[in-house]
Amino acid sequence: MRSSHFAAPILGWYAENARDLPWRAPEATPWGVLVSEIMLQQTPVSRVLPVWAEWLARWPTPSALAAEPSGEAVRAWGRLGYPRRALRLHASAVAIAGEHDGRVPDSYDALLALPGIGSYTAAAVASFAYGQRHAVLDTNVRRVLARTVGGEEYPPKAQTVAEVRLAESLLPLDPPVAARWSVAVMELGALVCTARAPRCGACPVAERCAWRLAGRPAYDGPPRRGQQYAGTDRQCRGRLLAVLRQAEGPVEKALLDVVWDDAVQRERALDGLVADGLVDPLDEGLYALPR
Ligand code: SF4
Repeated sequence: MRSSHFAAPILGWYAENARDLPWRAPEATPWGVLVSEIMLQQTPVSRVLPVWAEWLARWPTPSALAAEPSGEAVRAWGRLGYPRRALRLHASAVAIAGEHDGRVPDSYDALLALPGIGSYTAAAVASFAYGQRHAVLDTNVRRVLARTVGGEEYPPKAQTVAEVRLAESLLPLDPPVAARWSVAVMELGALVCTARAPRCGACPVAERCAWRLAGRPAYDGPPRRGQQYAGTDRQCRGRLLAVLRQAEGPVEKALLDVVWDDAVQRERALDGLVADGLVDPLDEGLYALPR
């Protein structure tokens, strides 16, 4: 796949089919884009939308969030899951307020230097907030490239250097077009070239897709594990954290004990929350969100 072959159909498809999402609106701020990227990493759009709107209404700037305790970020994270992301966003807000005059930096390197911001998020914010030219490789993009160019149903389990090189080689030269291309490929993966049921009949690059042209050969790589949730430590942590989010102040341990029967798993989950900085153990057996 060369970008000259693929850019026009995918950009044309995106112009017609892109979802109208608030962090893509012209008035969205770089801070709004950064918040959306962190929230979207492990949570579907439909669940992110209301929480993102609440966050931006409450904390329209990084400085507004930085002025509050990190526990408020955890509380407002609601049920998005993987709540360490709330702490990472808060830490980034503190760094932006303290080191960048409250403005989300526009260089990839400065973004990458923020606490808890990895190469994906730095590239996404530089592209989507500032119209720069960076390879933005999320799971959707990796899957589309694996199929269209690699002829494989799924990309490797862990991102490879070859995938980054391929993504870079496909970027249109003009930075704003490259940024739009990145979000367009991402959207194609989210809406058409989905993981389990790709709709090749509705795909703008079906005529050139290596995997489709090969007859959609079945995946024969290492087993791909689904994400189970029920009964896991993650579910237990979510229940414990929900008690603390709903409480006005510190809660007694007994209130945590009643939300999960398995005491060994419950203690392990609580220890994990404390170790991650998501819960503060206080004197007299009380627990609270971090201050
Ligand atoms: S033709 Fe099918 S597999 Fe290939 S990119 Fe389009 S939706 Fe995905």
